[in-house]
Amino acid sequence: MAANKKLLMLPGDGIGPEVMAEVRRIIGWMDKRRHVSFDVAEDIIGGCCIDAHGTPLRDETVADAKAADAVLLGAVGGPKWDNVAFDIRPEAGLLRIRKDLGLFANLRPAIVFDALADASSLKREIVSGLDILIVRELTGGIYFGEPRGVETLPDGTRRGFNTLVYTTPEVERIVRVGFELAQKRSKKLCSIDKANVLESTKMWREEAERIKGDYADVALSHMLVDNAAMQLIRDPKQFDVIVTTNMFGDILSDAASMATGSLGMLPSASLGAPDASGRRNALYEPVHGTAPDIAGQGKANPLAMLLSFAMMLRYSFDMEEDATLVEGAVEAVLDAGLRTGDIMSRGRTLVSTGGMGEAVTAELDRRAA
Ligand code: NAD
Repeated sequence: MAANKKLLMLPGDGIGPEVMAEVRRIIGWMDKRRHVSFDVAEDIIGGCCIDAHGTPLRDETVADAKAADAVLLGAVGGPKWDNVAFDIRPEAGLLRIRKDLGLFANLRPAIVFDALADASSLKREIVSGLDILIVRELTGGIYFGEPRGVETLPDGTRRGFNTLVYTTPEVERIVRVGFELAQKRSKKLCSIDKANVLESTKMWREEAERIKGDYADVALSHMLVDNAAMQLIRDPKQFDVIVTTNMFGDILSDAASMATGSLGMLPSASLGAPDASGRRNALYEPVHGTAPDIAGQGKANPLAMLLSFAMMLRYSFDMEEDATLVEGAVEAVLDAGLRTGDIMSRGRTLVSTGGMGEAVTAELDRRAA
């Protein structure tokens, strides 16, 4: 079958190339067994790009990323580049690609696989079966608002200030992403704000209310962020899709991710605005970093990367069946007791990065037979 799905792979540094190799393995399997072909290009980003070109991200790579249907990213950075100039540090490459692709919607699922429920810091009964999706606004709000800075007043007092600002189009586009995702899931959307204190988020709540008429099948609720933080720990399963501001989403998604207990299991997606044909720029990456402590040793857990690939199948290519197949295979290998070091517990079988990828592929084979 002709390959019309253009992927740009950016493995990055540290364990990035190791976990990306397992995506290649699944892509090879899909080509052979599902007759789904991807047109895959690969490039460098982050520390390895600084070494090769003196910059963490080249203009050509940005152009290729814009032309691709989806970008898959490993992770960037590491101690080798800790002392490079601030504007060419590895993370600058990551921030730039997100900005240049206009990726305003960050999707962070928090899913607890039954086999790993005991790895959570919360009780098994609170997290078992958890499957929520946090949609965070990524390009606006207090992290980008002007004016910002630190000034020294005449009396010598220093004054630090940031600005929480949202416009109605910024709110509308992210809240619509929340509604659309809720439509594909359990039709429940919770918008989180601080409308009792912050005018900008009172406006956010009003916009969400204004838009909700377009999504009659979705039940919209609102919650204040302080209560949401509490509820995520008390009873996270009450939520399905959450939509919120940049800063609230940053904090709440990290809190929710700990309910799942393991960094090596957490995927993410970042989406841009749809064009006239409905196509969006999109970047998929695991939440974890480059894990320099275990890089190059075959110890990395590739499942966050594979689950990011599954998100790509679902959100960029509408391949729900294949996405579910990959997620189901991941769940099955965990149920069978296979573990990389980060999720290892007594009585389970320790496998390498490649061993885990092989097991997922073998399970895919069984399921597709
Ligand atoms: P990290 O996520 O790389 O590692 C934290 C701990 O989790 C380490 O002990 C590591 O071994 C372990 N770990 C992480 N991912 C794992 C996996 N897939 N399998 C098994 N174990 C895993 O965070 P850090 O140590 O704070 O950062 C290391 C480097 O990564 C830094 O240079 C940092 O800037 C960078 N970083 C990059 C990204 C990104 O590219 N998106 C995100 C976070 C950190």
